[in-house]
Amino acid sequence: MVAYMDHKNLANETIDDARARSIADGVHRVLDGIAEAESKAGRTSGEVRLLAATKTRDVGEIMAAIDAGVRMIGENRPQEVDVKTAGLTRLCMDRGYALGTAADASGHDLVPLPFHLIGQLQSNKINKVLPYVTTIESVDHLSLAQKISKRAEARGITVGVLLEVNESGEESKSGCEPDEAIDLAGAIAALPGLRLEGLMTIGAHVDDETTIRRGFAHLRETRDALLATGDAALVNARELSMGMTHDMAYAIEEGSTIVRVGTAIFGERAFI
Ligand SMILES: *Cc1c(COP(=O)(O)O)cnc(C)c1O
Repeated sequence: MVAYMDHKNLANETIDDARARSIADGVHRVLDGIAEAESKAGRTSGEVRLLAATKTRDVGEIMAAIDAGVRMIGENRPQEVDVKTAGLTRLCMDRGYALGTAADASGHDLVPLPFHLIGQLQSNKINKVLPYVTTIESVDHLSLAQKISKRAEARGITVGVLLEVNESGEESKSGCEPDEAIDLAGAIAALPGLRLEGLMTIGAHVDDETTIRRGFAHLRETRDALLATGDAALVNARELSMGMTHDMAYAIEEGSTIVRVGTAIFGERAFI
């Protein structure tokens, strides 16, 4: 168990009005910021999707974000997926949304609300998340992809994956080396039970705009190179998951298709 989970009941479904309002304000500010960055970059409005990064937030807080317009969520830890999914799935269904893999069973009467895993995944936790998440964003080596592929095949499902690339070269970060990304993406895309949907990176932890943008631009160039190979297994690899609270605008200007935002929606995290 993760330590902060002893201090906060993440399955809690009820929050007060002031908290719900502050989360709604956060969502609206972020959606406005996305629209502004799209327009500044000359991109089509609505091209960039917002993923709410929901680690350490409870079910009630996450539903407040969904009620304010969030249509995709991402968790970091399998334990949190485990604790929150039942409540989230039920409350989403009440509102006409099918969370994660619930969309596969819902026919066409519910609107799909994608559920991603965005944090590191240990292989012994794969089976904990596969029943629920639509996409695993943090795949960064072939052996992990092979294990996910085997478990997905055993379940008769196809799971989306993004290849995480360490564009900043920072030691503390996960992700494959940028110069390995194209070969690795090809090998991952060829595995059964997986659908390679694109690339993910975490921006450089520096203040320098040029450095941050260079990493994002390089991820986009890598994605473009993948699509240009003509490899049929790579045709779905269009997503660029890049940009967080502090570097979202740069990422959108460099081509992001998914921004993962936590703090700007929910406020500072009390834990980790
Ligand atoms: C927490 C987290 C985010 C969101 O970060 P904020 O700075 O709170 O917006 C995005 N991506 C990953 C992988 C995260 O762990």
